[in-house]
Amino acid sequence: MSKIKVKTTLVELDGDEMTRVMWEMLKKRLILPYLDINLEYYDLGMANRDKTEDKVTYESAYAIKKYGVGVKCATITANKERIIEYKLKHEWPSPNATIRSILDGTVFRSPILVKNLQPGVKAWKKPIHIGRHAYGDVYKNQEIAVPGAGKAELVFTPADGSAPIRKTIHEFNAPGVIQGIHNTDASIKSFAKACFEYAYDQKVALWFSTKDTISKTYDNRFKDIFQAEYDGFWREKFKKAGIEYFYTLIDDVVARIMKTDGGMLWACKNYDGDVMSDMLASACGSLALMTSVLVSPEGHFEYEAAHGTVQRHYYKYLKGEKTSSNPMALIFAWGGAIRKRGEMDGTPDVVAFADKLMKASVSTIENGIMTGDLIRVVDPSPSDRQVTTEEFIDAIGMTLDRMLK
Ligand code: NAP
Ligand code: MG
Repeated sequence: MSKIKVKTTLVELDGDEMTRVMWEMLKKRLILPYLDINLEYYDLGMANRDKTEDKVTYESAYAIKKYGVGVKCATITANKERIIEYKLKHEWPSPNATIRSILDGTVFRSPILVKNLQPGVKAWKKPIHIGRHAYGDVYKNQEIAVPGAGKAELVFTPADGSAPIRKTIHEFNAPGVIQGIHNTDASIKSFAKACFEYAYDQKVALWFSTKDTISKTYDNRFKDIFQAEYDGFWREKFKKAGIEYFYTLIDDVVARIMKTDGGMLWACKNYDGDVMSDMLASACGSLALMTSVLVSPEGHFEYEAAHGTVQRHYYKYLKGEKTSSNPMALIFAWGGAIRKRGEMDGTPDVVAFADKLMKASVSTIENGIMTGDLIRVVDPSPSDRQVTTEEFIDAIGMTLDRMLK
């Protein structure tokens, strides 16, 4: 079989622990034998981030800006324990946070649906995508532990020297806590734009929710910016595509979402998206069936798995045990990135390969071959034994070979 040529460089960001092990396996069996591809490799493993003073993370983000598409393995976010474990010079920031701050943008998460795994919510038949604003709010907060009686104020000091704006938050007569959060119109606009683009690209409805009845200024700003984006650029396009946009209270979406059959993009503010995407992942069976893509307002894409480095499995692997960790979300990260590369390059054979890779993975599970995390939740439970990660990847490879013949 001759290899399929991928026209433009794809940026590869390697990572840590069990996902790094799976990354190597799947690249060898499912990618490199089929594609003639130039990968620009960045090693974001903990040791190399420490060695390069985290420069490698910055370089990888700029490479994604240059080429347009990257695929990222899960990485350790340093903390006190990791400093000891890896003898780190510094508690390096989360690579995802660094990359997001360079690319800006919105994180979209979608579950991988397989026929033998019923979502916790029976009505769901189509994927529910979540778009999470990846900037500001409580993730860029300032907090004060209030020691005792006193007045807490919200103050804005204009740069032009005009009078400050002040509001009393609370008159404390005993200890408590306060928090300041912010967002910017520019970031909210690019969040809105990314959500409309994604919904239009996927041909799914867009639902947007906040708590504007309570947060009459802050959340209302989000609502107004989304409405302006819709009225200004999308109303006609959406109508032609037969999809709708609507805004409603988050409480209302939570109630409605349980009764729909899915197939929409739910745009969420940062915190809502954090929590709701975890809820969605567990309702869909396994963290290993949740994909994630960061879409920048300039049209750059970074694909990854939603889960972490699967640390517990890695320690078993280090002891020489065979693990049954699930590589599905990593395979879909590669599939998504290769597909997008093909779309951007105008190479339909590359797009077709990516689709077959993802289809082969799903049909392997539907044929009863799966890793331990899924064995526990599928119905009917397969008669086949649970396979190791390597056996699972090989089974996908064999299905893919048949599909490509
Ligand atoms: P995790 O790696 O997502 O794993 C949590 C648990 O979920 C695992 O112990 C495992 O359960 C199950 N699981 C997750 N992915 C799986 C897979 N592919 N196959 C089978 N089971 C899977 O989260 P964590 O253990 O809390 O975090 C580990 C490290 O990952 C941390 O250092 C964290 O900083 C990092 N992290 C990175 C990212 C990222 O790069 N995007 C995201 C989150 C966390 P069982 O052990 O019960 O089998
Ligand atoms: Mg979360």
